[in-house]
Amino acid sequence: MYGDPYAAARRDMVDQQLVRRGIRDLRVLDAMAKVPRQRFVPEEYRHLAYDDSALPIGECQTISQPYMVAVMTEALGLEPGSRVLEVGTGSGYQTAILAELAAQVYTVERFDTLSENARALLCELGYRNILSRVGDGSKGWPEAAPFDAILVTAAAREIPEELEAQLAPQGRLVIPIGDRTLQDLYRVSREGEGWRMENITSCRFVPLVAEAGWPED
Ligand code: SAM
Repeated sequence: MYGDPYAAARRDMVDQQLVRRGIRDLRVLDAMAKVPRQRFVPEEYRHLAYDDSALPIGECQTISQPYMVAVMTEALGLEPGSRVLEVGTGSGYQTAILAELAAQVYTVERFDTLSENARALLCELGYRNILSRVGDGSKGWPEAAPFDAILVTAAAREIPEELEAQLAPQGRLVIPIGDRTLQDLYRVSREGEGWRMENITSCRFVPLVAEAGWPED
């Protein structure tokens, strides 16, 4: 983007934090080289937007570390025609990355403030393939199911049954599972009558506030 003061920082983020650590999917790298992450962080943290870390976004929630966004997105294996459900809109940054790579994104956030801020920003940035709503995303979005991919961006204790039920036959669910402070990121996919679970990496997410997660603090 000509005249974008963050362009160099964004390129460095992709090279140093993503490519060097093994992110290979060119579509994911292109999306992360394009989406202006600084727009999704509060003004006072804007100078840190391309740092290798999560940042506060209000309501005691965070925008995830760029590397974790890339790992989760790559694991979803999105195609241009994919329909995706995201649980935990947060700042909307991950939503924008998904919208760059898929046909339609559905995103659910429990805080109406975060949901509304993200909706307005995503609209201003020109995304027209995102539908958002406020609620408990662990229940999914049954009217829009099945989904080719589901991404949960908050830490669960176990896989929410409703999300499994809303996955398409070849669908992939990416979800952090563990305790309140430390989790493993899993990719869950159907295998015959059962489920295949692949442990991708260890991670640290804010809690999913839900039956399959934890009660509110
Ligand atoms: N992907 C986001 C981004 O790029 O900014 C980061 C998401 S943040 C790590 C996790 C989000 O999940 C928080 O905004 C939190 O409020 C939300 N959340 C937690 N439990 C939820 C639930 N049951 N349903 C919907 N959203 C939930």
